Amino acid sequence: MFALVDCNNFYVSCERVFNPHLEGKPVVVLSNNDGCIISRSDEAKRLGLKMAEPAFLKTRFLKENHVYVFSSNYTLYGDMSARVTETLTQFVPEIEIYSIDEAFLNLSGFSGDLNTLANNIKNTVRRNTGIPISVGIGPTKTLAKIANKAAKLSGGIFIIRNDQHRDSVIRNTPVNKIWGIGGQYFKLLERNKISTAYDFTLLDDNWLRAKMKVMGMRIKRELLGESCILLELTVPSKKAIATTRAFGKKTSKIELLEEAVSTYAVRCAEKLRMQHSVANLLTVFIHTDPFNQNEVQINKSKTISLPVASNENIELVKHALYCLNQIYSSSYNYKKAGVIVDGLQSEKQVQANLFDKSNREKFRNLRNAVDKLNYEFGRDKIKLAVQGDGKKWKLRQEKLSQRYTTNWNEIIEVRI
Ligand SMILES: [Mg+2]
Repeated sequence: MFALVDCNNFYVSCERVFNPHLEGKPVVVLSNNDGCIISRSDEAKRLGLKMAEPAFLKTRFLKENHVYVFSSNYTLYGDMSARVTETLTQFVPEIEIYSIDEAFLNLSGFSGDLNTLANNIKNTVRRNTGIPISVGIGPTKTLAKIANKAAKLSGGIFIIRNDQHRDSVIRNTPVNKIWGIGGQYFKLLERNKISTAYDFTLLDDNWLRAKMKVMGMRIKRELLGESCILLELTVPSKKAIATTRAFGKKTSKIELLEEAVSTYAVRCAEKLRMQHSVANLLTVFIHTDPFNQNEVQINKSKTISLPVASNENIELVKHALYCLNQIYSSSYNYKKAGVIVDGLQSEKQVQANLFDKSNREKFRNLRNAVDKLNYEFGRDKIKLAVQGDGKKWKLRQEKLSQRYTTNWNEIIEVRI
């Protein structure tokens, strides 16, 4: 059996842990730059607020209905997610982190009562982290996903067993709610009058193979209770790493673009070091606001291959700034920039370059010292001067909560 653990309204729940007075009240969290609604409390859902709805269209509605609005605080959510995962690993030896708020648990070998186990997991996560979760259990990952949806409506726990019960559940599952059935396939199935997961299991194997390839067959077998999608236990190293963001305010100034691009390059270097890889290629792109038809549009990028594969801040910033200067022109209003590193390999197998004059060991020692300080005192406390303070281009985050769990200065205060 597999369990799918999903944190309920995750971002909103994270905010509530540190603001308990928000319990029972409508709360929403906005996407980057305070753009769209990306997490809603049940109360906010009941008010009719939709996922991905632009917040600026709803300003009055939000105010009139006393909805609490937060900017997204990914530092907090990332840390809370790690805490939930840590609690889950106490229960099972195998766990797959599926997204920031979802994880699959392998329950094979567990012989006790599943209901008791699910309750135990739910209560322990709540006690350790303050986050409410739903637990769906089924004989396959696909069925565990379906069980999780049902759990949301039935007190947080739902178990699908491999018997007639499974049959009745899939008869009541619309085909577009099956894991892995997205837009195109949904249209295809709709055209063929397949409306429930049960209908899907009646599809002819040859037809499935022709129309939906191996995936279609896998979904069918999984729905019938035969497990064929296993847990992905090791997170494969990413093939390319990108840090791209829209600016809070458009700009045509080179100094601000330099601040942004060098900061993104440092973020890429950090991500590379975290997975112990180095990059051979580096791309910088900048573009104007494609939604503003009144402005002259431009979209430029430049890719270079690095003389020696690297994950060092100073080097990546130097190359990123070179690229930026190749594509920059002062006559446009830029809305977004990004740095992408590609051609990744393990940092243990770096090919040296005969003409390389930089003292790599010195770089590494300096950067290790800087990393240590930043780990202790907060991100970017020590940084390259060119990164600036970000005040003129950073995202709008007007309703940001504190980083309660990762920064001593922002820790929650209790008054007695
Ligand atoms: Mg969730």
